Amino acid sequence: MSTQTTLHPTFAGELVAPGDPDYDTARALYNGAHDKRPAVIARCTSARDVQLALAHAREHELVVAVRGGGHSIPGHSSCDDGLVIDTGPMKSVGIDVDGRTGRFGAGLTWGEFDAATQAHGLAVTGGRVSHTGIAGLTLGSGSGWIERTCGITCDSLISVEVVTADGCVLRAGADENADLFWGVKGGGGNFGVVTEFEFRLHPVGPIVYAGMILHPRSAAPALLRFYRDFVDRAPDEVGGGVALMTAPPADFLPEAARGKPAVGLVLVYTGDPGLGESVLRPLVEWGEPWLTAVQPMPYVAVQQLLDDAHPWGVCDYSKADYLHELTDEAIDAMVEATAEPRAPFSGLNVCPLGGAVARADRGTMSLEIPDAGWFYMCEAMWWDPADAEAEIAWARSLREALLPWTVDKAPPNFIGADEGQARLRASYGPDKFGRLVALKDAYDPDNVFALNQNIPPSHAGE
Ligand SMILES: Cc1cc2nc3c(=O)[nH]c(=O)nc-3n(C[C@H](O)[C@H](O)[C@H](O)COP(=O)(O)OP(=O)(O)OC[C@H]3O[C@@H](n4cnc5c(N)ncnc54)[C@H](O)[C@@H]3O)c2cc1C
Repeated sequence: MSTQTTLHPTFAGELVAPGDPDYDTARALYNGAHDKRPAVIARCTSARDVQLALAHAREHELVVAVRGGGHSIPGHSSCDDGLVIDTGPMKSVGIDVDGRTGRFGAGLTWGEFDAATQAHGLAVTGGRVSHTGIAGLTLGSGSGWIERTCGITCDSLISVEVVTADGCVLRAGADENADLFWGVKGGGGNFGVVTEFEFRLHPVGPIVYAGMILHPRSAAPALLRFYRDFVDRAPDEVGGGVALMTAPPADFLPEAARGKPAVGLVLVYTGDPGLGESVLRPLVEWGEPWLTAVQPMPYVAVQQLLDDAHPWGVCDYSKADYLHELTDEAIDAMVEATAEPRAPFSGLNVCPLGGAVARADRGTMSLEIPDAGWFYMCEAMWWDPADAEAEIAWARSLREALLPWTVDKAPPNFIGADEGQARLRASYGPDKFGRLVALKDAYDPDNVFALNQNIPPSHAGE
């Protein structure tokens, strides 16, 4: 082994380097558009391992990438020739059921997190795809089906354990290192490697009234208007979203629907399932859908509804923004911008905000949550490299088409590598961005943690 693949003898994790049998598996990212070849992947089991890995990177002047679940869309969680600190092996779970709190290792996926918390009928807002990591998603905001009930994911944080660039292990919460805690709630991985998350948990499930409805695309203009008006009057317990997408070639769909342009609803009612059935009935009974599959079901199953549409290794490019309102004109622009047939998994998702998202105490977090009623995510996805240019161009043109109705901000989780610092600054706003730069100066003045939605230290432009 070279010096670059030997760590301190007390390193308890695993090192994976080029030539090792599982190197290709260990370096793979969800987004197949990125093919990075790190010099070494340090699969850390504890804060102590992270300290040792950081010290090694410093000693050998290696670029550092930090990885949780490996779902960074811009591919920030790996690098060429540097060191990847992989927190994936940290999968500890400790739940205080009566106190409705829990401590969770940074390596859990949302599928693992939900399985552990749902055993007690508890949840926080998790990602809409269950193999996404809790770490990156929480630090960069955290949006999911139940956010109108439980708020943005980082809003449920009580504290974190962080290894900072100088190798200190700190706990940050409202009463301890409060400035750092404010920073990690939306500031991503800029201030250190988080090894543990402590969450306030919410009573949801284990059975919820939920499911999917699929209509032909011709229903989209009327359905989106009906859905908007329904959600405007709905209680916070109503969550979900609507997607302009392509119907999957699945056996459970009528043959005439398979592979055709469609409009799909995901519905979830986080309260009593019996009440959910009557609350959601107008949406269930609307129009003439190809498929209606809405019923009492485990919340963990709701969290996996989109998994098949997001397979590991697919290429993924996204655009996202908030919409003040979902006006008729915005709906028409969405329908028009998605009219052409696309690669099978590409689509536009539109989700209602309000409820607990709107009530978040913005002063407690660096994340900027604008006063907006809706959020959209345009996902361009492809397998065949020949489709890349057209799919990316489509996502960009969709963002342009929707600009008249958008806030022109996005959470860090959804800012693309090609959108630049200007969009990140605009998304935080000048006050929060200035405060984040001051925090970066205090906790990571050398920008060790640069592979992320980067907050540059103040001397960076000198
Ligand atoms: C299929 C898919 C579905 C998604 N769905 C949603 C969704 O429903 N809601 C939503 O809000 N977002 C969603 N996202 C965006 C997602 O939140 C971000 O991509 C997020 O960064 C993924 O977290 P991760 O841990 O899997 O990623 P990683 O790629 O492992 O990490 C991304 C970045 O987070 C930071 N990071 C990761 N782990 C740590 C750590 N332990 N300590 C410090 N920093 C760390 C690093 O800067 C890293 O570069 C989705 C993305 C994909 C690809």
